[in-house]
Amino acid sequence: MTTRDERLDVLSLTPGELDGALRMHFAAHGQPAYRVAQVASWIYEGGATRFVEMTDLPAREREALAEAFTLAEPASAEAARSVDGTVKHLWGLTDGELVESVLIPSGSRVTLCLSSQAGCAMGCTFCSTGWGGFRRQLTAGEIVSQYRASRRWAADQRWPPISNLVFMGMGEPLANRKALMTALTILNRGYEVGARRITVSTVGVVPGILELAKRPEQFRLAVSLHAPNSELRQELVPLEKRYPLPVLMDALRAFQRAGGRRLTFEYTMIAGINDALDLADGLADLALDVHAFVNLIPFNPIPDNNWTSSAPEHMRAFARRLEARGVTAAVREPRGRDIAAACGQLRVTYLRARRARTPAAPRAAARRS
Ligand code: SF4
Repeated sequence: MTTRDERLDVLSLTPGELDGALRMHFAAHGQPAYRVAQVASWIYEGGATRFVEMTDLPAREREALAEAFTLAEPASAEAARSVDGTVKHLWGLTDGELVESVLIPSGSRVTLCLSSQAGCAMGCTFCSTGWGGFRRQLTAGEIVSQYRASRRWAADQRWPPISNLVFMGMGEPLANRKALMTALTILNRGYEVGARRITVSTVGVVPGILELAKRPEQFRLAVSLHAPNSELRQELVPLEKRYPLPVLMDALRAFQRAGGRRLTFEYTMIAGINDALDLADGLADLALDVHAFVNLIPFNPIPDNNWTSSAPEHMRAFARRLEARGVTAAVREPRGRDIAAACGQLRVTYLRARRARTPAAPRAAARRS
């Protein structure tokens, strides 16, 4: 029989909540108030992974902290490094679930792509994570931990510091709103990652977009559009049935009205599916409406699907058609293809290998919705 751990997870607390919890804790232990700043500094700047590492606190106070709080980080289950420098980590959470994060170096910039859910329920037809189904929501601490562990890994490798965070890993971040909003506060105010360096990517969860628009920080938003009309979009993004394009566009106008925020449309280009040149005109109308930058992304092949990416020259022609209408567009280079760096692919490969090794003990069937 297991007992539930009642200790507070310090990695899931906003800086304000952490301050309050530590103040109460140290007051109850007759300790001076400056202990709070010591612990906060170990967590945010020092990146401590255990209370015992906090060597400027008395040993008995470190033990007392460990009795009252947890500071658990996921273990690295697997790491894969691409020939182009991209590094993907597969993290094992405390209950055995697996999530991915990807470090993408580019000159002096290092972007970290974070996961917000174990699996995903959105069922986008072009996505490996959709293929694997939904497992569970991540806590704010599990989201933040990916950043902490990746930051440590990058420092050990003498990489430049992580400069940008994108929520484009596994899961739909705005379908895990409570944890996401908390994690954004922790990353921004605790770890001091500028709001304009954090991009939340969504397939169009309208209530989440509206909530993000109300926040004072200027977090960036990327919308996975993939089609410029409802009919085609429904085939690629099932959420289109719940929040159709006109409703989504209303929410994006509200996001723009909030001011000073950058909006990007992500458009995965699949040969013969959504890459006809005349679709660029519809996409241009939408982008001009909300002043969105357009990223054209080559499709990454996924298991059990024979779709292929649009050819590079066709993608450039699509971009030129957008630019002729006054839209700023970029054709993205595929990164980390040799390590299956697109969302959810390493997890799928790892789970398949694990199933092959243990055929008598399969995990519960994956759910799609
Ligand atoms: S593209 Fe994003 S929202 Fe769609 S299934 Fe994949 S992870 Fe989920």
